[in-house]
Amino acid sequence: MTTYFGAIADDFTGATDLAGLLARSGVEVSLRIGVPDSPPANTAPLEIIALKCRTSPVDEAVGETKAALDWLRSAGAKRFFWKYCSTFDSTPRGNIGPVAEALMRALGSDQTIYCPAFPENGRSIFMGNLFVGEQPLAESPMKDHPLTPMRDSNLVRLLKPQVTLPVGLVNRHTVANGPQTLRDRLARLRQDGVAHVVVDAVANDDLTVIANACEGMTLLTGGSAVAMPLPEIWLKQGLVKRRDLKHDNRFEDGPAIVLSGSCSAMTSRQVAAFLREGDRPSLKLDPLELAEHGAGPALEWLSHQDLAMTPMLYATTTPDAVRAAQEKLGTDRAGALVESALAACAVAAKELGVRRFVVAGGETSGAVTKSLDVKRLDIGSEIAPGVPWCFARSGNHDIAITLKSGNFGTEDFFATALEVLET
Ligand code: ADP
Repeated sequence: MTTYFGAIADDFTGATDLAGLLARSGVEVSLRIGVPDSPPANTAPLEIIALKCRTSPVDEAVGETKAALDWLRSAGAKRFFWKYCSTFDSTPRGNIGPVAEALMRALGSDQTIYCPAFPENGRSIFMGNLFVGEQPLAESPMKDHPLTPMRDSNLVRLLKPQVTLPVGLVNRHTVANGPQTLRDRLARLRQDGVAHVVVDAVANDDLTVIANACEGMTLLTGGSAVAMPLPEIWLKQGLVKRRDLKHDNRFEDGPAIVLSGSCSAMTSRQVAAFLREGDRPSLKLDPLELAEHGAGPALEWLSHQDLAMTPMLYATTTPDAVRAAQEKLGTDRAGALVESALAACAVAAKELGVRRFVVAGGETSGAVTKSLDVKRLDIGSEIAPGVPWCFARSGNHDIAITLKSGNFGTEDFFATALEVLET
């Protein structure tokens, strides 16, 4: 079917998060890893391209997203979405703002919105300030993120240095008055030349208002949740159709592995909970040791494990330990060492027979998926809001893989993920 909606995600967990929420509508969603080499074929009404450009140099991120946009346009997409993290992970250089501005230029659109709110996961925006649960973003554990520490909670202030055109805000009081009021407010801001509009949302109802007011905008930007109501709107307009089968879960025979490169507070609790189960073989990776000895010892360890026990390899550690590693090795090198070690472990695990992969961390998921040479994911059922099981081809094998963004899921996520696939 011709594609109507084309989304570009700045990391892989973000892409599967978006895919999972869109798939709730029953409309077929297809997720491509990287910009496909070949022209569009067998496309779905809702297409997502996952990139790994959250922390890449701005020029590279802009180049990749524009290539993704070209592919989605040639698939027939009429509406576009730039998906980033619900905690607005970025630095004063970007890449959220510069990419949005480049996409707007390419699409000839003069205004877009920014709404990373995800109420089901505790991300809300009020008066332009982003909250993680009850904490302002800059007081949440995101202040210690290894790559994009968030030290301000105000999205207008965060966005301003990232873009060249004016930034504005539509607050919750306006959103609460419904789609027409919001549309009018956006139109007035447009007349004043405000190209980038942060929009408050504290509940799913706000997101429905925003989606209804903005579904006609060529480009929307935000977290996954603001896109969630869009398929229902387009279904009513007859622009997309439901597929027969809502979730296409397939049980992948073969053992499972947990690979965690996220150092988020929630992932730390999830790793601790999995370790508490007691009978799981586990190995902690340390960037300093990886710098000295490479991934060899971890691969050696893995080859001796009973895979039926679902081993876990994790670099997840405390903010202090992350800082210490980064001071010795540099932030990029510390991150890259962990990512490439976990990616190598994923490949080795597959060769040893593992067919189910539970991966924690956005950048980590990018590295693992690339190493497994996965090109396209079919979306299965959600394990937690924004985290579905995905099914893919890796070499000559079918695999199941779930890519969990750092702060998503509840404490028992790893065990739940394995249960969901078996029921
Ligand atoms: P999240 O989804 O929580 O943001 P990511 O995988 O995107 O997780 O980012 C975590 C980053 O931190 C990755 O680049 C990872 O390699 C890096 N990292 C993981 N463990 C450590 C560690 N012990 N020391 C330094 N960096 C680490």
